[in-house]
Amino acid sequence: MSLQLKNLTKTYGSQKAVNAISFDIKEGEIVGFLGPNGAGKSTTMKIATCYVPPTSGEAWVGGFNVAEKPMRVKQITGYLPEHNPLYLDLYVHEYLTFVGKLYGLTGQKLKGRVKEIVDLCGLTPEQNKRIETLSKGYRQRVGLAQALIHDPKILILDEPTSGLDPNQLVEIRKLIKMISQQKTVLFSTHIMQEVQALCDRVIVINKGKIVADDKLEFILKAHATGSVIVVQFEGKIDEVKLKSLPGVKEILTMESFSYKVIADGTVDVRPEIFRFASEQSVSLIGLKQEENSLENIFRDLTITPAMHEKED
Ligand code: ADP
Ligand code: MG
Repeated sequence: MSLQLKNLTKTYGSQKAVNAISFDIKEGEIVGFLGPNGAGKSTTMKIATCYVPPTSGEAWVGGFNVAEKPMRVKQITGYLPEHNPLYLDLYVHEYLTFVGKLYGLTGQKLKGRVKEIVDLCGLTPEQNKRIETLSKGYRQRVGLAQALIHDPKILILDEPTSGLDPNQLVEIRKLIKMISQQKTVLFSTHIMQEVQALCDRVIVINKGKIVADDKLEFILKAHATGSVIVVQFEGKIDEVKLKSLPGVKEILTMESFSYKVIADGTVDVRPEIFRFASEQSVSLIGLKQEENSLENIFRDLTITPAMHEKED
């Protein structure tokens, strides 16, 4: 089932939290929704899950318009809201049974489904504990379990890994990856590495506007301005000459005849460096191009939005 937004706008007072955004997520896609705090991610997700109405524009979830068929949308959508609101004084099993009932499950079907989802989310040993006694990672599992109880085809997860320690993070990512099979998933984050770990398409939002929507590899390529080459020689070389090679902007000295060569990106400077080494009669023992860092690209996309803004 697909998720489509058409010119969607949400205004709070005079502020446009979401400003005429459009995108189309096809059945089975797992899409990372990336953007800094206040960009409009949660607002978009609240509209797609019928928690707030749009000011203008349309949201279609699984072929249903959220403004016209909110009950149908909720039947096919699982939603983990930001900050994972839970009833802390309920027991895990009790809470999931309660949510299952809200979705109309009863009797053996309800019992069976709660058991299934408890197992799937790795909650079997914790199911008879009160939610307030659980660690953040386990609470997040409960949050995912409640989003999945009615076997939705579309999953909307708002910052599902925020605030987790590194071990919990790995576990929750694994769980998301597993439960995302055969579902259409939109999950928000402000961590680019997370997108890389979980999906291949990314939609970047900044100040209520979509500033990028593509496969991660294309975004990486499109923003590969300049390059950094780490080079190691066997012995001493003429640093001034290295710096004056065509295409080289700067060199940074590292340890034992190693340098970071910053190139302007117009030409591949690696063949030049190779020739230079032979001219200097020194062996080249390392030559490696560094990938443009994900953080740099994220910053580039979201700090100078005027340069990249895509008109919808
Ligand atoms: P994100 O989830 O990307 O951090 P949000 O969608 O929560 O961003 O917020 C987008 C903008 O809308 C922010 O500037 C936020 O302050 C504002 N906003 C969100 N919800 C409300 C609200 N209920 N009332 C007023 N402003 C809001
Ligand atoms: Mg948010």
